[in-house]
Amino acid sequence: MVYLILSDIHANWEALEAVLKHAAGRYDQVCCLGDVVGYGADPNAVTDWVRTNVPRVIRGNHDKACCGLEDPVLFNPVARFAAEWTRDTLSPENRDYLWNLAAGPMDHGDFLMVHGSLLDEDQYLIDSQDAIPQLGAAGGRLVFFGHTHVQGGFLLSPLDQEEAAENSSGGTTIRVARGESQLLNPGSVGQPRDLRWEAAYALYDSERQLVEFARCPYDLATAQRKIREAGLPPALADRLGEGR
Ligand code: ZN
Repeated sequence: MVYLILSDIHANWEALEAVLKHAAGRYDQVCCLGDVVGYGADPNAVTDWVRTNVPRVIRGNHDKACCGLEDPVLFNPVARFAAEWTRDTLSPENRDYLWNLAAGPMDHGDFLMVHGSLLDEDQYLIDSQDAIPQLGAAGGRLVFFGHTHVQGGFLLSPLDQEEAAENSSGGTTIRVARGESQLLNPGSVGQPRDLRWEAAYALYDSERQLVEFARCPYDLATAQRKIREAGLPPALADRLGEGR
C-alpha cells in the first residue's frame, strides 16, 4: 500500500491541487495530519475535498480554532484574525466536519498519525530535546507528525546513507526500519516554513518501507492574490513566497 501523507494544507487550494497532480497515480490512499484550514483563502474548497477524498484525518489546532471548538485566544493577532475570518467563511457542513474531527494519535495499522506529538496534539517537535521522549513513547512504531511545517524528522538509529537518495522532486527518499521508533514530518502542503516555498508532502510505501519526501511548485501568485483579495492580513501572502 502506498499512502499519500498530507499535513497543514491551511486552506491553500493551489498548493493542494499541485500536490495531487504531482503525486497522481503513485498512491492508493490519502491521510491528513490536521490543519486543513486557517491562513489561506480557500477553506471551503479544501475542506470539501478532504471530506470527500481522505478517509483518515485528525484535527490540528487551527481546525479547532476555525470551527469554534477552541477560542484562538493564544494565537498571534494575524493567526487569530485568519481563524475568525475562516470561521465566518466556512459553510455549516464544513464547520461541523472540522468540529467532529478526531484528535490524534490515530493508529493506522501501518503507522501512527499525530498533529503535534504523541503526548500532546498541540506540541511542536522542533529539536531532538522535544523528540527524544516521543521516540520512547512511540514504542517501535513509525509516527507521522505535522504542526511545525518543516519536512524531515527524527530517528533513533542513524540513517543508512546508502539507502537515502535524492529523488526527482529535489527531496530525499529514505528506507525506514521495521520495529524502530521513527518520527517523520511530511512538511506542510499549504504554508511551508523550511525556507522553501514549494508545497511539501510525503509518500509512504508500506511494503517496501520507503518514505519519499517530495516538493512541488504551485501557482503561488494566485494563492497570494486570493489572500489579499479576501481581506486577510497581507503578511500571510508574503510569507508563502518566503517559506516561513
Ligand atoms: Zn499548521
